Amino acid sequence: SGDDIKAAAAELAAVLADMRAGVAFTGAGISTECGIPDFRSPGGLWSRNRPIDYQDFLASREMRAEAWRRRFALEPALGGAKPGRGHRALSTLAGEGRLRGIITQNIDGLHQASGVAEGQLVELHGNSTYATCLDCGTRYELDWVRARFEAGQGRAPDCAACAGPVKSATISFGQPMPAAAMARAAALSGACDVFLVLGSSLVVWPAAGFPVQAKRAGATLVILNREPTELDDLADLVIHADIGDVFEAAMAR
Ligand code: NAD
Ligand code: ZN
Repeated sequence: SGDDIKAAAAELAAVLADMRAGVAFTGAGISTECGIPDFRSPGGLWSRNRPIDYQDFLASREMRAEAWRRRFALEPALGGAKPGRGHRALSTLAGEGRLRGIITQNIDGLHQASGVAEGQLVELHGNSTYATCLDCGTRYELDWVRARFEAGQGRAPDCAACAGPVKSATISFGQPMPAAAMARAAALSGACDVFLVLGSSLVVWPAAGFPVQAKRAGATLVILNREPTELDDLADLVIHADIGDVFEAAMAR
Protein backbone atom coordinates (compact mmCIF):
# COMPACT_ATOMS: atom_id res chain seq x y z
CA SER A 1 0.00 0.00 0.00
CA GLY A 2 1.00 3.66 -0.13
CA ASP A 3 1.84 3.69 3.58
CA ASP A 4 4.05 0.62 3.25
CA ILE A 5 5.92 2.28 0.39
CA LYS A 6 6.38 5.43 2.48
CA ALA A 7 7.72 3.48 5.46
CA ALA A 8 10.09 1.47 3.24
CA ALA A 9 11.27 4.62 1.47
CA ALA A 10 12.03 6.28 4.82
CA GLU A 11 14.17 3.32 5.89
CA LEU A 12 16.01 3.25 2.56
CA ALA A 13 16.49 7.03 2.56
CA ALA A 14 18.09 6.85 6.03
CA VAL A 15 20.64 4.32 4.75
CA LEU A 16 21.33 6.33 1.57
CA ALA A 17 21.83 9.54 3.55
CA ASP A 18 24.78 8.02 5.48
CA MET A 19 26.21 6.08 2.54
CA ARG A 20 29.71 7.22 1.49
CA ALA A 21 31.08 4.27 -0.49
CA GLY A 22 28.12 2.17 -1.50
CA VAL A 23 27.85 -0.67 -3.99
CA ALA A 24 24.65 -1.73 -5.75
CA PHE A 25 24.09 -5.27 -6.96
CA THR A 26 21.25 -5.55 -9.46
CA GLY A 27 19.23 -8.36 -10.98
CA ALA A 28 16.38 -8.77 -13.43
CA GLY A 29 13.89 -7.19 -11.00
CA ILE A 30 15.25 -3.69 -11.61
CA SER A 31 14.32 -3.99 -15.30
CA THR A 32 10.83 -5.49 -15.12
CA GLU A 33 9.23 -2.04 -15.11
CA CYS A 34 11.08 -1.43 -18.38
CA GLY A 35 9.14 -4.27 -20.00
CA ILE A 36 11.85 -6.95 -19.74
CA PRO A 37 10.54 -10.07 -17.99
CA ASP A 38 12.66 -11.58 -15.20
CA PHE A 39 13.66 -15.22 -14.96
CA ARG A 40 11.88 -16.76 -12.04
CA SER A 41 8.64 -14.85 -11.53
CA PRO A 42 5.50 -16.63 -12.78
CA GLY A 43 5.42 -16.12 -16.55
CA GLY A 44 9.14 -15.23 -16.47
CA LEU A 45 11.57 -16.32 -19.16
CA TRP A 46 12.56 -19.43 -17.23
CA SER A 47 9.05 -20.92 -17.35
CA ARG A 48 8.88 -20.37 -21.12
CA ASN A 49 12.27 -21.74 -22.17
CA ARG A 50 14.99 -23.46 -20.26
CA PRO A 51 18.17 -21.57 -21.10
CA ILE A 52 20.55 -23.12 -23.62
CA ASP A 53 23.75 -23.92 -21.80
CA TYR A 54 27.23 -23.29 -23.12
CA GLN A 55 28.13 -26.88 -24.02
CA ASP A 56 24.94 -27.28 -26.05
CA PHE A 57 25.57 -23.98 -27.83
CA LEU A 58 29.06 -25.18 -28.81
CA ALA A 59 27.93 -28.69 -29.68
CA SER A 60 25.56 -27.99 -32.56
CA ARG A 61 24.75 -25.43 -35.19
CA GLU A 62 21.04 -26.15 -34.63
CA MET A 63 21.36 -25.03 -30.99
CA ARG A 64 23.22 -21.92 -32.07
CA ALA A 65 20.44 -21.13 -34.52
CA GLU A 66 17.85 -21.70 -31.77
CA ALA A 67 19.78 -19.38 -29.43
CA TRP A 68 19.76 -16.65 -32.09
CA ARG A 69 16.05 -17.16 -32.85
CA ARG A 70 15.30 -16.65 -29.14
CA ARG A 71 17.57 -13.61 -28.95
CA PHE A 72 15.81 -11.97 -31.90
CA ALA A 73 12.41 -12.82 -30.37
CA LEU A 74 13.42 -10.76 -27.31
CA GLU A 75 14.46 -7.80 -29.40
CA PRO A 76 11.10 -5.97 -29.33
CA ALA A 77 11.35 -5.88 -25.49
CA LEU A 78 15.13 -5.46 -25.18
CA GLY A 79 15.82 -3.16 -28.10
CA GLY A 80 13.23 -0.54 -27.19
CA ALA A 81 13.72 -0.57 -23.41
CA LYS A 82 14.53 2.65 -21.53
CA PRO A 83 16.07 2.89 -18.03
CA GLY A 84 13.55 2.74 -15.16
CA ARG A 85 13.28 4.58 -11.85
CA GLY A 86 15.75 2.24 -10.14
CA HIS A 87 18.37 2.71 -12.88
CA ARG A 88 17.93 6.47 -12.78
CA ALA A 89 18.27 6.64 -8.98
CA LEU A 90 21.48 4.58 -9.07
CA SER A 91 22.89 6.76 -11.83
CA THR A 92 22.23 9.84 -9.68
CA LEU A 93 23.85 8.24 -6.61
CA ALA A 94 26.88 7.19 -8.66
CA GLY A 95 27.19 10.69 -10.10
CA GLU A 96 27.13 12.13 -6.57
CA GLY A 97 29.96 9.80 -5.55
CA ARG A 98 27.85 8.04 -2.90
CA LEU A 99 27.88 4.86 -4.93
CA ARG A 100 31.33 3.56 -5.93
CA GLY A 101 30.06 0.96 -8.29
CA ILE A 102 27.20 -1.09 -9.68
CA ILE A 103 27.58 -4.84 -10.10
CA THR A 104 24.88 -6.18 -12.38
CA GLN A 105 23.73 -9.64 -13.39
CA ASN A 106 21.64 -8.05 -16.13
CA ILE A 107 22.49 -8.24 -19.77
CA ASP A 108 20.15 -5.51 -21.00
CA GLY A 109 22.55 -2.55 -21.11
CA LEU A 110 20.15 -0.30 -19.15
CA HIS A 111 22.72 0.86 -16.57
CA GLN A 112 24.89 2.21 -19.41
CA ALA A 113 21.83 3.79 -20.97
CA SER A 114 21.11 5.60 -17.68
CA GLY A 115 24.51 7.31 -17.92
CA VAL A 116 26.62 5.24 -15.51
CA ALA A 117 30.33 5.50 -16.39
CA GLU A 118 32.05 2.37 -17.73
CA GLY A 119 34.48 2.43 -14.78
CA GLN A 120 31.63 2.28 -12.27
CA LEU A 121 29.84 -0.67 -13.86
CA VAL A 122 30.62 -4.39 -13.65
CA GLU A 123 28.64 -6.69 -15.95
CA LEU A 124 28.96 -10.15 -14.44
CA HIS A 125 26.90 -11.93 -17.08
CA GLY A 126 27.95 -9.93 -20.11
CA ASN A 127 25.82 -7.90 -22.48
CA SER A 128 23.21 -9.05 -24.98
CA THR A 129 23.24 -5.92 -27.09
CA TYR A 130 26.17 -7.18 -29.20
CA ALA A 131 27.93 -10.46 -30.09
CA THR A 132 31.48 -11.79 -30.14
CA CYS A 133 33.37 -14.62 -31.82
CA LEU A 134 34.20 -17.22 -29.16
CA ASP A 135 37.51 -18.08 -30.87
CA CYS A 136 39.07 -14.74 -31.80
CA GLY A 137 36.96 -12.21 -29.89
CA THR A 138 35.90 -10.12 -32.89
CA ARG A 139 32.88 -8.01 -31.99
CA TYR A 140 29.74 -8.06 -34.13
CA GLU A 141 26.70 -5.83 -33.85
CA LEU A 142 23.29 -7.48 -33.69
CA ASP A 143 22.32 -6.08 -37.10
CA TRP A 144 25.25 -7.90 -38.70
CA VAL A 145 24.24 -11.20 -37.09
CA ARG A 146 20.61 -10.73 -38.09
CA ALA A 147 21.48 -9.94 -41.70
CA ARG A 148 23.69 -13.05 -41.97
CA PHE A 149 21.11 -15.16 -40.15
CA GLU A 150 18.38 -14.09 -42.56
CA ALA A 151 20.57 -14.37 -45.66
CA GLY A 152 21.48 -17.89 -44.58
CA GLN A 153 17.82 -18.84 -44.06
CA GLY A 154 18.17 -19.25 -40.32
CA ARG A 155 21.66 -20.74 -40.31
CA ALA A 156 23.74 -19.54 -37.35
CA PRO A 157 26.50 -17.30 -38.75
CA ASP A 158 30.23 -17.97 -38.27
CA CYS A 159 32.94 -15.37 -37.65
CA ALA A 160 33.99 -13.58 -40.85
CA ALA A 161 37.61 -13.52 -39.66
CA CYS A 162 38.19 -17.06 -38.34
CA ALA A 163 34.95 -19.05 -38.92
CA GLY A 164 34.52 -19.51 -35.15
CA PRO A 165 31.10 -19.56 -33.46
CA VAL A 166 29.48 -16.14 -32.95
CA LYS A 167 27.61 -15.80 -29.67
CA SER A 168 25.72 -13.03 -27.95
CA ALA A 169 28.20 -11.42 -25.53
CA THR A 170 26.41 -12.91 -22.52
CA ILE A 171 27.61 -15.58 -20.11
CA SER A 172 25.58 -18.79 -20.43
CA PHE A 173 25.22 -21.48 -17.81
CA GLY A 174 28.35 -23.63 -18.03
CA GLN A 175 30.44 -20.83 -19.52
CA PRO A 176 33.46 -19.55 -17.56
CA MET A 177 32.79 -16.30 -15.70
CA PRO A 178 34.68 -13.26 -17.03
CA ALA A 179 37.79 -13.05 -14.83
CA ALA A 180 38.25 -9.27 -14.94
CA ALA A 181 34.62 -8.60 -14.04
CA MET A 182 34.76 -11.10 -11.17
CA ALA A 183 37.90 -9.47 -9.78
CA ARG A 184 36.41 -5.98 -9.97
CA ALA A 185 33.19 -7.16 -8.29
CA ALA A 186 35.17 -8.80 -5.49
CA ALA A 187 37.21 -5.64 -4.92
CA LEU A 188 34.05 -3.49 -4.75
CA SER A 189 32.26 -5.95 -2.46
CA GLY A 190 35.17 -6.15 -0.05
CA ALA A 191 35.44 -2.38 0.42
CA CYS A 192 32.02 -0.73 0.69
CA ASP A 193 30.01 0.71 3.57
CA VAL A 194 26.60 -0.24 2.14
CA PHE A 195 25.75 -3.10 -0.21
CA LEU A 196 22.34 -2.74 -1.90
CA VAL A 197 20.80 -5.83 -3.50
CA LEU A 198 18.04 -4.79 -5.91
CA GLY A 199 15.77 -7.22 -7.74
CA SER A 200 17.68 -10.47 -7.53
CA SER A 201 16.46 -13.82 -6.25
CA LEU A 202 20.10 -14.52 -5.28
CA VAL A 203 19.99 -18.10 -6.50
CA VAL A 204 22.58 -17.73 -9.29
CA TRP A 205 26.14 -18.44 -8.14
CA PRO A 206 28.88 -17.27 -8.04
CA ALA A 207 27.12 -13.89 -8.38
CA ALA A 208 25.18 -14.39 -5.11
CA GLY A 209 28.47 -14.71 -3.26
CA PHE A 210 29.13 -10.96 -3.45
CA PRO A 211 26.47 -9.89 -0.90
CA VAL A 212 27.87 -12.53 1.46
CA GLN A 213 31.40 -11.21 0.96
CA ALA A 214 30.29 -7.59 1.56
CA LYS A 215 28.46 -8.50 4.75
CA ARG A 216 31.49 -10.44 6.06
CA ALA A 217 33.68 -7.40 5.34
CA GLY A 218 31.43 -5.24 7.51
CA ALA A 219 29.06 -3.56 5.05
CA THR A 220 25.43 -2.82 5.89
CA LEU A 221 23.50 -5.27 3.70
CA VAL A 222 20.18 -4.04 2.24
CA ILE A 223 17.92 -6.32 0.18
CA LEU A 224 15.07 -4.75 -1.79
CA ASN A 225 13.03 -7.34 -3.66
CA ARG A 226 9.36 -8.06 -4.28
CA GLU A 227 9.68 -11.58 -2.86
CA PRO A 228 11.88 -13.18 -0.21
CA THR A 229 15.40 -14.07 -1.38
CA GLU A 230 17.90 -16.72 -0.38
CA LEU A 231 19.86 -14.24 1.76
CA ASP A 232 17.15 -12.29 3.62
CA ASP A 233 18.31 -13.76 6.94
CA LEU A 234 21.77 -12.26 6.47
CA ALA A 235 20.57 -8.71 5.69
CA ASP A 236 20.45 -5.69 8.02
CA LEU A 237 17.45 -4.27 6.19
CA VAL A 238 14.99 -6.28 4.06
CA ILE A 239 12.29 -4.51 2.05
CA HIS A 240 9.72 -6.54 0.12
CA ALA A 241 8.32 -3.99 -2.30
CA ASP A 242 8.58 -2.60 -5.81
CA ILE A 243 12.03 -1.15 -6.59
CA GLY A 244 10.77 1.75 -8.69
CA ASP A 245 8.10 2.80 -6.17
CA VAL A 246 10.49 2.69 -3.21
CA PHE A 247 13.37 4.48 -4.96
CA GLU A 248 11.12 7.15 -6.38
CA ALA A 249 9.82 7.93 -2.87
CA ALA A 250 13.26 7.60 -1.21
CA MET A 251 14.99 9.91 -3.69
CA ALA A 252 12.26 12.52 -3.25
CA ARG A 253 13.15 12.77 0.45
P1 NAD B 1 15.56 -13.54 -11.02
O1 NAD B 1 14.53 -13.54 -12.10
O2 NAD B 1 16.04 -14.83 -10.50
O3 NAD B 1 15.04 -12.69 -9.79
C1 NAD B 1 14.44 -11.44 -9.98
C2 NAD B 1 13.81 -11.03 -8.68
O4 NAD B 1 13.31 -9.70 -8.82
C3 NAD B 1 12.63 -11.92 -8.28
O5 NAD B 1 12.83 -12.41 -6.97
C4 NAD B 1 11.41 -10.96 -8.34
O6 NAD B 1 10.51 -11.17 -7.28
C5 NAD B 1 12.05 -9.61 -8.19
N1 NAD B 1 11.35 -8.52 -8.88
C6 NAD B 1 10.83 -8.49 -10.13
N2 NAD B 1 10.34 -7.28 -10.42
C7 NAD B 1 10.52 -6.51 -9.32
C8 NAD B 1 10.24 -5.15 -8.99
N3 NAD B 1 9.66 -4.31 -9.88
N4 NAD B 1 10.57 -4.69 -7.75
C9 NAD B 1 11.16 -5.52 -6.85
N5 NAD B 1 11.48 -6.82 -7.11
C10 NAD B 1 11.17 -7.29 -8.34
O7 NAD B 1 16.74 -12.64 -11.57
P2 NAD B 1 18.29 -12.63 -11.19
O8 NAD B 1 18.50 -12.89 -9.75
O9 NAD B 1 18.81 -11.40 -11.81
O10 NAD B 1 18.88 -13.88 -11.96
C11 NAD B 1 18.46 -14.11 -13.30
C12 NAD B 1 19.56 -14.33 -14.30
O11 NAD B 1 18.97 -14.15 -15.58
C13 NAD B 1 20.67 -13.32 -14.20
O12 NAD B 1 21.84 -14.05 -14.21
C14 NAD B 1 20.56 -12.46 -15.47
O13 NAD B 1 21.79 -12.53 -16.18
C15 NAD B 1 19.52 -13.11 -16.34
N6 NAD B 1 18.41 -12.21 -16.76
C16 NAD B 1 18.64 -10.90 -17.09
C17 NAD B 1 17.60 -10.05 -17.44
C18 NAD B 1 17.92 -8.61 -17.79
O14 NAD B 1 19.04 -8.34 -18.21
N7 NAD B 1 17.01 -7.67 -17.59
C19 NAD B 1 16.29 -10.54 -17.48
C20 NAD B 1 16.07 -11.90 -17.15
C21 NAD B 1 17.14 -12.73 -16.79
ZN1 ZN C 1 36.67 -15.25 -34.98
